[in-house]
Amino acid sequence: MKSSEQNMILQARILETIKAFDRIVICRHRRPDGDAYGSTFGLREILRDAFPAKDIRLINDDHSDYLSFIGDDDLPFSDEEYRESLFIVLDTGTKDRVSQKHLNDAKFLIKIDHHIDNLPYGDISWVEDARSSACEMVASFCLSFPETLRLSPVSASYLFTGMVTDTGRFRYEGTDGDTMRIAGALMDQGIDREMIFANLYMDPYDVVVFSANAMKNIRRTENGVAYLHVTTGMIKKYGITTEQASASVSLMDSIRGSFIYIAFIDYPDGTIRVRLRSRFIDIQKLASKYHGGGHANASGATLSGRKEMNALLRDADAILKEAKQAHKEWI
Ligand code: AMP
Repeated sequence: MKSSEQNMILQARILETIKAFDRIVICRHRRPDGDAYGSTFGLREILRDAFPAKDIRLINDDHSDYLSFIGDDDLPFSDEEYRESLFIVLDTGTKDRVSQKHLNDAKFLIKIDHHIDNLPYGDISWVEDARSSACEMVASFCLSFPETLRLSPVSASYLFTGMVTDTGRFRYEGTDGDTMRIAGALMDQGIDREMIFANLYMDPYDVVVFSANAMKNIRRTENGVAYLHVTTGMIKKYGITTEQASASVSLMDSIRGSFIYIAFIDYPDGTIRVRLRSRFIDIQKLASKYHGGGHANASGATLSGRKEMNALLRDADAILKEAKQAHKEWI
């Protein structure tokens, strides 16, 4: 882990690099979440406010329907323009997860992220895995250089949105005093929280009906790992998107004793998306074993089929068994 001084030096280098480029591409990870959206839109806004003469674009290969209220991408650059651009990738632990097919054309690449840095990349890499969110890092970056960078109600609103989603509304472990102080600085800009929460947490009726039925399909392993397999059949039956189906992981977040809970979602390409969540227990290594990654209490992976799904469940069950034996004090 780098010291705060080393992280400040990295941030100063990032700002100097931004100043040196006329063209900037900002991108995020595939299957984007609120933090991926918020941090990229937030950074674009801050940089456009500070450097109006630069051509700063948000360009990605995929998007989220659920987060479309935040906004859309910009038009792509030409191949030649990509080759002259600075690329800034946010919230993306590994290069293969970047939602940008021109990434290897980048003249210079900056990584800003809060995931555990297993496979480092980028000409400058500013990674702080103890941070609650990439949005918190972007806000902190902005606040560190007040002579050049300023928050506005618009950028603050983007960043606050991503902080809310990645901290589970300021509940998850990564939330600390700095998180709250930075969230406070964003709120001081005068953001419309009511609107943000309505957009984030009101579901279409079909999704609510799906959730009610999905709850009946929640199962538990011998030692209490809760899991739910959302099959292609269920997705079709309720007319929902795979993204909406994926949100079902939160249906299992309050089952007493199920300190690990996992949603498996069938994808149209035949793979199974895994969303792993936990309390008290680090499940990041388990995700890594299945070629995934993420954080101690929230990780993800992609599986090839049911055989791997059953193997992962057996591993999760063994981890939970051991943890429960070692921690009789847990509820
Ligand atoms: P999710 O369940 O998609 O919200 O992901 C939880 C965390 O795990 C996020 O920080 C993701 O960036 C990370 N993650 C999800 N899927 C993968 C994957 N296939 N490989 C590496 N990290 C992942």
